[in-house]
Amino acid sequence: MPDDSPRQPEAIDCASAMRQLFDYLDGELTPARELAVRQHLALCARCYPHFAFEQEFLRALGKARGAGAAPLPLRERVMSALTAAGFVAGG
Ligand SMILES: [Zn+2]
Repeated sequence: MPDDSPRQPEAIDCASAMRQLFDYLDGELTPARELAVRQHLALCARCYPHFAFEQEFLRALGKARGAGAAPLPLRERVMSALTAAGFVAGG
């Protein structure tokens, strides 16, 4: 018998979550899909760092676009974000 109103959001795997990550950040997913991605990110220690990084990256891009005069060139902002995240050795 079909269950039209599941209590749990659709369970998705890591590949699916990563495929939808940019659409999620852009707010282009349906509410149900957005919820599924959000739930996965909340529970998955492997995907969450990707999400947090992309979110920061897009935020930095948005700021760079929105601000008439960015204090630093985008490349430096990205490098400093990467450094802060531990991807690049400082110095
Ligand atoms: Zn995952």
